[in-house]
Amino acid sequence: TTLTKDFAVAGQLLPEQLAEVAALGFKTIINNRPDAEAADQPSSDTMAATARELNLAYYYLPVVPNQLTADLAKELDDILQQAPAPVLAYCRTGNRSGQLFNLRNNLPPSAATDTQARVESTREVLIVGGGAGGLAAAASLLKRDRKLQITVIEPSDVHYYQPGWTLVGGGVFRQQQTVRQMGSVMPRGVEWIKDAVASFEPDDNAVVLQSGTRLNYQYLVVAPGLKIEWDKIEGLTDTLGSNGVTSNYHFDHAPGTWEKICNLQQGNAVFTQPPMPIKCAGAPQKAMYQAAWYWEQQQRLKNINVHFFNAGGVLFGVPDYVPALESYISRYGIDIHYQHQLVAVDGPARKAFFQTPDTDDRIEVSFDFLHVSPPQCAPDFIAGSPLAGSAGWVDVDQATLQHTRFSNVFSLGDVASTSNAKTAAAVRKQAPVVAHNIVSLKHNRDSVAHYEGYGSCPLIVERGKVILAEFGYGGVLQPTMPSWILNGKQATRLGWILKAHMLPPIYFDMMLKGHEWLATPPVVRAGLNSSIVNEV
Ligand code: FAD
Repeated sequence: TTLTKDFAVAGQLLPEQLAEVAALGFKTIINNRPDAEAADQPSSDTMAATARELNLAYYYLPVVPNQLTADLAKELDDILQQAPAPVLAYCRTGNRSGQLFNLRNNLPPSAATDTQARVESTREVLIVGGGAGGLAAAASLLKRDRKLQITVIEPSDVHYYQPGWTLVGGGVFRQQQTVRQMGSVMPRGVEWIKDAVASFEPDDNAVVLQSGTRLNYQYLVVAPGLKIEWDKIEGLTDTLGSNGVTSNYHFDHAPGTWEKICNLQQGNAVFTQPPMPIKCAGAPQKAMYQAAWYWEQQQRLKNINVHFFNAGGVLFGVPDYVPALESYISRYGIDIHYQHQLVAVDGPARKAFFQTPDTDDRIEVSFDFLHVSPPQCAPDFIAGSPLAGSAGWVDVDQATLQHTRFSNVFSLGDVASTSNAKTAAAVRKQAPVVAHNIVSLKHNRDSVAHYEGYGSCPLIVERGKVILAEFGYGGVLQPTMPSWILNGKQATRLGWILKAHMLPPIYFDMMLKGHEWLATPPVVRAGLNSSIVNEV
């Protein structure tokens, strides 16, 4: 089984098979099976002697079943730094060798000192980011071509299901339902390098990692998400989590939102929305409706003034959904303040400050509860890179998701310059497009998949009801179901069932596993720009 271009694993090998192994091009054998595990097993000395005759480098690194340790992984790392590639490691079934290799890849950067080894090796497909976009793209690529050698660069140990944070803040999900170990969601066969990309050198088909390693690639997929600008609101980071201030945009603080909602008996409840674009444009309102619904149920709403301060000028960007939303605004008695952008918070004094286009003076608002949806932008290492367009996002073609200047570079998810709603729902439709187009490019096929801007925002308006907004480029409605089954322009129970019960498994068990349910992209007969790829 090939794990990377330079590393494969096998079950028990016999001396007479080593000539074939050499003929396949392997240069090094690693024996991970302790001697004398079975009566019919050739000894390490026998294997070493045969390997020597065939000019194969040979290492004995025995792994006792269920006794993998970081020290063993480090030893493997040391071997891989000096051994000629490609390497074939074996044990009884190949499992221990594979597990040890994975462990070695997940050593903290300081321990995995294989910089030299990695400098020279070119990755076939390099994916930046192991979030929704990166992992969905990896899974969709493997669905099309199991032999593709895919490497994901991802610094985090955990993978977040961010769409669940709104439900944590609404007291419906537990926080732990929205996080999984990164290793458990990484598609099988993908190499994971636990590091972060620091910079891009697309003219040389290379990225440089924070550890200093430089990696070349044949195809690059850029999906590191966006940057939340907590610091852009003066005083916010000092008070977030205390003084009634909270945000569903942070894993740590989403549970605090629900706690603060439950505790508020009376006063001013303030919800904010920053300038677009942000991920999940409906999330600021969802936090508000869930809170108002709870206060209504508890007979407290008459004592609580709910205010929505929106930096924009409309309730929702697609007019078709506005009437249904407005009916909830009036049901809960919410005061809307358009063109008001939150710029500062004084937590201890419980005051929020807003900027408007009409005056240079800040408008001061007292609060007892404040839910902040922070401003968002492209990550610095993207905005300052040759991949960025004028607004800082990765500059891709709206339909093909191929970079406008570097044709072996693609992007999806929140970081892409496409004008869709930045959502995991968009990623579900984008990943098959990226995968199709990379495979087409690799095989020089005249077949191009198109993304039509689909994004979706399940607007929770009360516990048990959702307005399911689904739309594409230009605000064109793209409902998945006919309106007699699910009318997205109205609050429905089915929309809620979808959001709270069906979308998490659709995300983890389908999207991240390459099952492209209702996500097949339209394909046209045309060629992609291949000007740079041919030179790789
Ligand atoms: P992410 O999923 O954020 O993943 C980016 C990954 O890149 C991360 O793992 C990160 O560690 C990694 N990374 C960062 N920097 C680097 C680097 N330098 N090198 C390598 N890796 C790096 N979507 C919906 O569809 N429906 C919803 O209802 C919904 N609600 C939401 C509610 C909230 C409160 C939030 C915050 C989001 C919501 N979303 C929703 C949006 C959705 O979660 C995102 O659009 C989606 O996660 C984007 O995927 P991504 O891969 O672009 O980014």
